[in-house]
Parts: sequence; structure tokens; C-alpha cells
Amino acid sequence: MTDSYRHKGLRKKLVNTISEKGIKDKRILEAIGKVPRHNFMDSGFIEFAYRDQAFPIGAGQTISQPYTVAFQTELLQVKKHDKILEIGTGSGYQCAILLELGAKVYTIERHRELYLKSRALLTEMGYKPYFFYGDGYLGQPKFSPFDKIIITAGASEIPKELLKQLKIGGRMVVPVGGGSGQVMMTIDRIDEDEYKELEHGYFAFVPMLKGKQ
Ligand code: SAH
Repeated sequence: MTDSYRHKGLRKKLVNTISEKGIKDKRILEAIGKVPRHNFMDSGFIEFAYRDQAFPIGAGQTISQPYTVAFQTELLQVKKHDKILEIGTGSGYQCAILLELGAKVYTIERHRELYLKSRALLTEMGYKPYFFYGDGYLGQPKFSPFDKIIITAGASEIPKELLKQLKIGGRMVVPVGGGSGQVMMTIDRIDEDEYKELEHGYFAFVPMLKGKQ
């Protein structure tokens, strides 16, 4: 896993692109500038690692576009030591960004192949989230409540079970929509039974599916 000057240079350009697209949080830009995204992609795609695009990671899934990762992370308002549940480990890239921000991350993946691959990679890179192989719709009740929940696949509706696992004062970021496009939503838990929903524009994600595979 080399990180050459060329990789670093390309990463700097990517940070500029994302910043020009409207990401303001310096800590997030720093994290994007630090995490070697090319490690998270199959060798055939390494040349594309620093383009602001989504790419295949196997099992019919994709590593999210860096701008989308930054946008969701910004909406999540990550504080150091926040306890965060991530649904859809995928390549592990979003997880690495959250860990760089000082969060404690619990990440779930439903594809066994991707779960094993990202677990091995993140561990090799020195990242230490809690890994789970399972259905993210069920969350991780044993470890709840969470300060924040981030869903990185398109959910056909807001997952009810996950709302219960959010701390009062906590926030969920979830792309909602069953078709090819989703609306990015934040859901703040105001009280035991009170939630506030806001919409933040349209994105395209692979679907959030039930069950394990
Ligand atoms: N955060 C990832 C994005 C990967 S794409 C990254 O940075 O690379 C979304 C991922 O969500 C896919 O890997 C897909 O398998 C996973 N996924 C879809 N439905 C899920 C579910 N119900 N539970 C857990 N993971 C799910």
C-alpha cells in the first residue's frame, strides 16, 4: 500500500474540487486530503481514485463519490468521540473519514465478501472501528443509543428501528428513495417521540436491501 507524491498531489486537487463544490468544514477537507482513497479501490481503478466519482468495489456495489462522502459527513456534524453507527461499510472509505474526525464508529455491511475485505483493509491501515456483518435495517440495539447514524445506501423509507437507536439530541443522515434517485435527509431526535426532518437535495445511491448476503 504505497502512497506516492503523485497520489498526494492528486488528493490535493480532489480536496480543491470538493471545496469548490461547497464543502466548508476544514476538518473534513483535511480528512479527505489525508485518507489514501486508492487503497479502497480495485487495482484496475486506481487511476480513477482521485476523480470525484463513484466506482465499482465488487459485489455490484460502489465506493461513494468523494463529494457525497464529504456532504454526508458535513451534515452529520461529527464531534470528537461521537459514537456513530454507519450502515453500509462497503469499501470502508467513509468509515475511515469518520475515524479521522475522532469518532468511535460501529459499521455494518450485509455483503459478506465486502465485510471481510473492508475489515481486512481498514485493520491493515490501522483503523479500528467495530465491524458487523448483518442487516443494517436492524441496527445494533446492543450498542445503542448512538450520537449519530449515517446510512450510505438508498433507503426506500426511513428505517424505523434505527430511529429508536438514536440518542435524544442525535442526528441521522439518510438518502431516502426507492428508485434510482434519493433525497438526502437529516432527522434530528428532539425528544422521546419527536423528530425533525429536513431535506438537502438529490443524490444517487445503490439500494439499501434487507437481509444478509
Ligand atoms: N460507505 C461505503 C458506501 C458503499 S455503497 C463506502 O464508503 O464505500 C453502500 C453499501 O451499503 C454497499 O456495500 C451495500 O452492500 C451496503 N448495504 C446495502 N444495504 C445494507 C443493509 N441493509 N445493511 C448493511 N449494509 C447494506
